[in-house]
Amino acid sequence: MRKVFIAGNWKMNKTLPETINFVNKLRNFVSQTDFDKVIPAIFPPALYLDRCQDLLQGTSIFVGSQDVSKREGGAYTGEISAIMLKSMGIKYSLVGHSESREYHYETNQDVNCKAKILLKHGIVPVVCVGEQETERDKGITDTIILKQLQESLTGIKPDDNFVIAYEPVWAIGTGKTATPEIARQVHQLIRNWLTSTYGQKKAETTYILYGGSIKTDNLASLLQQEDIDGGLVGGASLSIDSYCRLLEISSHLE
Ligand code: PEP
Repeated sequence: MRKVFIAGNWKMNKTLPETINFVNKLRNFVSQTDFDKVIPAIFPPALYLDRCQDLLQGTSIFVGSQDVSKREGGAYTGEISAIMLKSMGIKYSLVGHSESREYHYETNQDVNCKAKILLKHGIVPVVCVGEQETERDKGITDTIILKQLQESLTGIKPDDNFVIAYEPVWAIGTGKTATPEIARQVHQLIRNWLTSTYGQKKAETTYILYGGSIKTDNLASLLQQEDIDGGLVGGASLSIDSYCRLLEISSHLE
């Protein structure tokens, strides 16, 4: 059975002391508990990646980046390259988060460049897709998701290691979680697309995470759905108690 992937996206939150406090508590918690069914990962602000990575050395907790530049390096003020992430031992990076798409005008083509540059440097892209509320209301969710997948993963091969995160935009940070049934339908669509594009073996081994107002009281019902392999969690990953509870819930699933 696949392990449950629980990714905590901190967005632009926490000071350095708060980060150190969280990570120390998380390390202690994970070391005292048997978490062989869960993959915990935190995605702190880029500024703290190196410190988090250092503090979590030797644990089963991964540290991921919230974004990456689509360029190799050079005169791009403020950007962070895949090579820099690689040099710190970072294993995962989000790409195409709806907030990057909205506030940084990131297109599917940008997401594709970022995913490819990460793969080139051995980092696993977590490719986020999701429809707007108006698109769902118009009944074009499937068309939107398939277009995002096709364009964001163009040229990416079956032996490339990537993760997909389905995050309906109307559910992110709004408290409106997709029902397990809505999430299940879209995850099945994504799994079917993976099968037709990359073959059954790749489809079966690719993680598809759900994200959008996951909380301790709705995680289990989402994870019980076939094709939901974990969660990408924003708000509920910020408190150490809540994030640890999400790990516990994931590890006790049947
Ligand atoms: C996210 O940041 O990807 C997210 C899903 O946020 P929230 O859990 O707060 O909706």
